[in-house]
Amino acid sequence: MRLILLGPPGAGKGTQAVFIAGKYNIPHISTGDIFRDNIKQGTELGKKAKDYMDKGLLVPDELVVEIVEDRLKQGDCTNGFLLDGFPRTVMQAQTLDKVLKNIGVGLDKVINIEADKGVLVERAVGRRICKECGTTFHIKNNPSAKGDICDRCGGNLYQRDDDNEETVTRRIEVYLNETAPLIEYYSKQNKLVTVDGTEEIDKVFEEIVVSLGSGL
Ligand code: ADP
Ligand code: AMP
Repeated sequence: MRLILLGPPGAGKGTQAVFIAGKYNIPHISTGDIFRDNIKQGTELGKKAKDYMDKGLLVPDELVVEIVEDRLKQGDCTNGFLLDGFPRTVMQAQTLDKVLKNIGVGLDKVINIEADKGVLVERAVGRRICKECGTTFHIKNNPSAKGDICDRCGGNLYQRDDDNEETVTRRIEVYLNETAPLIEYYSKQNKLVTVDGTEEIDKVFEEIVVSLGSGL
């Protein structure tokens, strides 16, 4: 399976990605996670990306495209992958098409998770992530059984720097202007499936599996 997860910030892409990657045994590639890891490790890439991320803006295409191209060449992507948060512009999507064509493979499906703005802001602002294992929680919708501690690995939970109301609102605007045109882009390629992201987490996953044409 070669899949893309599309949807505004807070729609539930990262949450669903864990289930999808597990079910189809494919690597979950999140460009946001790659940038956050680079910031944590103090790399040049991290330094370049941080300003854009803190402002809720997109990191320039040329930086992102190079990372994804390298990542897709790694051995674990031979039988498939799940891209989360990439592509985010038409230019990125066109480049991905070329990269895949050169490798001689194509995308199977683009899963578009829909949710409206009110839900998105509340979800992103309430998001908490485990520092150790990266599991995503929500203070109300999907809390850790141990409060500020991860109930899977015991790590501390943290809030992303860009998960405040002002930055989330900016990120949603950026999504509408720069990323939403990809809905039409992939729809024209007959790759798009759309699911309702406002349902419960399990229900959204069921809808995704059905839309990919496989049983639960
Ligand atoms: P994205 O990767 O699209 O930005 P996440 O998967 O990180 O979104 O989800 C954003 C927040 O919303 C997280 O705190 C997550 O626990 C919560 N969440 C995700 N899916 C749902 C859902 N279907 N219902 C309620 N809350 C959800
Ligand atoms: P995410 O973790 O997907 O919410 O992404 C967090 C931030 O990382 C975004 O607001 C952007 O600043 C940056 N980012 C992640 N993926 C991309 C991408 N494909 N193109 C440009 N910027 C990106």
